[in-house]
Amino acid sequence: MMLRRDFLKVVSMGAAMAPLLTPQQVFGQSQLLPTILWIRRGADEVRLDYSTTAGYKHLCWLLRDVHKNVTGFPDWRLLQLLSWMQAWLAGYDRHIRYDALSGMRLRSTNMAIEGAALNSKHIPDKDMVFRAIDTRNNVVSSEYLGRLAWMAQQGGVGFYVRDFSHFDTGPRIASWRAK
Ligand SMILES: [Zn+2]
Repeated sequence: MMLRRDFLKVVSMGAAMAPLLTPQQVFGQSQLLPTILWIRRGADEVRLDYSTTAGYKHLCWLLRDVHKNVTGFPDWRLLQLLSWMQAWLAGYDRHIRYDALSGMRLRSTNMAIEGAALNSKHIPDKDMVFRAIDTRNNVVSSEYLGRLAWMAQQGGVGFYVRDFSHFDTGPRIASWRAK
């Protein structure tokens, strides 16, 4: 876990250059990307550095399948996308916290969700790696955040009328709108 002042320091380092570089430049050189995240799920709110074992473990737990209480491994590129957006917005003095609505979903959990894709990136692969998150935030609209993610061209972006966004780092670059 990070103290607020350390978190802000690291965010502002990333933020200082985020607006100066195109997403393609940044994602092409992963050392330019911060590895920190401010995220909440229910009552659990953390600022963490997922390049540390403790930070990554906490994130695995936070983004678990809450219905089955099973933990998987969030895809590194997905986390980098989230960090990049946070740093980008911090460069414009918008400090967003992700409110995670859904992370990993076992196939059985996913099947129980109306309208969920059969090949959803929320479903873990054989190594228990999952590549999607549904989230909203406390500062900018999900429309805005979705457009930002789209700029990064890292995978799928879903715009949901119920005011949340879906981001994934599956192989397909795509966007869609849904209820
Ligand atoms: Zn989703």
